[in-house]
Amino acid sequence: DQAVVRKSLEDLYPFLENRLEFRWIHQRIQSMGKIWVEAGRSLSAKYNLTERKAQHILVHPGVVTNESGLKIAETAFSGGPLGELVQWSDLIATLHVLGHHLHLSASLPDLKNFLGFQTNGCPLRHSKVEANLIYTDIIGLKQFQHAFPATWMKYKCVIRVLDSFGTEPDFNHAVWARENNLMSPFGRLNLIPAQFYTMFPHTPDNTFLGFVVQHQLSSELSEQLNSTKRRNQALVYGKSSKFWEGKEAYLDVIHKYLEIHGTADNSTLIPSYVKNHGIIKGTEVQTLLRQSKVFVGMSFPYEGPAPLEALANGCAFLNPRLRPPQSRLNSEFFKGKPNIREVTSQHPYVEAIGEPYVWMVDMFNETEVERALTSILNQSIEPYLPYEFTCEGMLQRVNVLIEKQDFCSSGGRWPPLSALQVVKAEAGTSCKQACQTTGLICEPAFFPHLNSNKGLANHGVDCQTSEVTNSHMVLPAYNSTKHCLFQSDPLLFSCVRSNQSLIRICPCRDYIKDQIALCKACI
Ligand code: UDP
Repeated sequence: DQAVVRKSLEDLYPFLENRLEFRWIHQRIQSMGKIWVEAGRSLSAKYNLTERKAQHILVHPGVVTNESGLKIAETAFSGGPLGELVQWSDLIATLHVLGHHLHLSASLPDLKNFLGFQTNGCPLRHSKVEANLIYTDIIGLKQFQHAFPATWMKYKCVIRVLDSFGTEPDFNHAVWARENNLMSPFGRLNLIPAQFYTMFPHTPDNTFLGFVVQHQLSSELSEQLNSTKRRNQALVYGKSSKFWEGKEAYLDVIHKYLEIHGTADNSTLIPSYVKNHGIIKGTEVQTLLRQSKVFVGMSFPYEGPAPLEALANGCAFLNPRLRPPQSRLNSEFFKGKPNIREVTSQHPYVEAIGEPYVWMVDMFNETEVERALTSILNQSIEPYLPYEFTCEGMLQRVNVLIEKQDFCSSGGRWPPLSALQVVKAEAGTSCKQACQTTGLICEPAFFPHLNSNKGLANHGVDCQTSEVTNSHMVLPAYNSTKHCLFQSDPLLFSCVRSNQSLIRICPCRDYIKDQIALCKACI
C-alpha cells in the first residue's frame, strides 16, 4: 500500500499514552502535534510525496527499556538527560506523519512479540509483518543480538542505530579496533558506518539524523508573549547540581548585568539570586527563553538540543570554550565513546554559527564574559534556526533517507554519482577537512568509485605503481613517488583520518544550504 502524509497524530497517542516508557515522548509529540501536521502539509505542497510505499517500521529505543537499567524514562521529569528522548520523539512523529506503519517496542517482550517469538524464545508463528526498516540504538541493538542471534543477521542491513555522538569507522571495525586498541563498550558492531544516525553532523561517515528545535508556540501562548517584552534576563543551562558546581564567580559576573533564572531540579544548590523554576515542560522552557536575552552555558552537558532552542527563540548563547578540547583521551564523559573527535566548546555545532548569536567565553575570565555580555545587551538579534532543525526539514531529510538510502543491495545508487566531486587532501589532512575547505562534504558512499587505478585516472591521478591493502584508514591515497594504495576492506573507508605521508583522494559532494545530509541532486 501507499504511504499517505497524515493529517493528524491522534492514532499515535493511545499506544504512547499507555506505556510509562513513552510518557515524556508522548508529551513532547503531543505538544508539537499541530506543528507536525502543518509541516507535513507544507512539505507535500513542495514535493510530490504520493508515489511512496508504506513501510513497516520497527522502532525499538533501547534507552527507554527497563532492561537497559538506565532509568532514562523515569528521570525524564526530574533532571535526567533528555537529548535522546527528544530525538526519539521527533523520529517517531516524523515516521508517522510520513504515512508509514509504525511498530513501537519498549521492552524485550515487545520485540519478541513483533518478531513472532514466544517469551521463551520459541517461534510462535510467522511474524505477520516483516520489518522493512528498524530504528534502534546501541543498547537496543545489543538486546536484539543477544535475544535473537540468528534473526538479527537477517535484519542487519535494514537496521539504523541512533547514536548521538557518532561511531567512527575504526571503532566500528571489530578487528581493526581490537588490533589498534580502540576499545569502547559501544564500538565493534561491524555495521556500515552510515547505519549510525547522529544527533548533529559529526563525522560524515555516519548519517546525520538530527531532531527538531521547538520554535513555534501555540497561538494563545504566542499572543501572551507578544505582549511581554524581552527582559534583562538570563536563563541558565543546567538541570542538575553537578553542572552548577564551581560556577559561582561566573554567575556573579552575569548577575551584575541580568536577572538570572534557572530550570534546575529542586535539590540543586544554587546562588540565592537565581530564580529557579525547577524542571518544567519543554513549552515552558520556550516561554522563559522568549523572555530572556541570554542563555548561559556552564560547559556541560555537551552538544544538547537546548542551545539551538535558545537561538531559535531569540536568545544569544554564551558558549564556554573547552581548553584543552575534550575527547576520549582526556574526558570522563567521552572516554567510552567510539570516536576520537575533539570537542572545542560546550557546543561545537553552534560555535560555527558564531556572533552575534553565539559568544565563545572562558568562564573564568571575567573581562571576557563582561565583553560578551555588553555586546549582547547593545544589540538585538532575530530568532535563528537552520532549516534542518525544523519539522519540515526533518520530514524532508528522513523521507529521502527512507526512500533512497539502501544498505541491502550492493552497488549503491544513492547519492547519485553526478554529485561526486573529487578533492585531494594534502598529507596530514583528512577528507572531512579537505571537502569542507572547498565548501563540500565528504561522501563515503562514493569511496568505491575512486578505489582503483581507473577510478583515480578518471580524476587525473596517474599511479606509477599500486597495491591493495587493509592496513590504512585513509585509502585511496598515494605517496610522493605516485605509489597508490587502495582499500581492500570497504568497512575501513573513512572520511576522518589523515596520514603524514599520504595524499588522500577524497569523494566530496555538495549539500543543500541548511540541509547538510542531502546533496542538491539527492531529493
Ligand atoms: N528541558 C525541559 N525541561 C527543563 C529543562 C530542559 O524539558 O526544565 C528540555 C529542553 O528544552 C531540551 C531538552 O530538555 O529540549 C534537552 O535538553 P539538554 O540540552 O539539556 O540536553 P540533555 O543533556 O538533557 O540531553
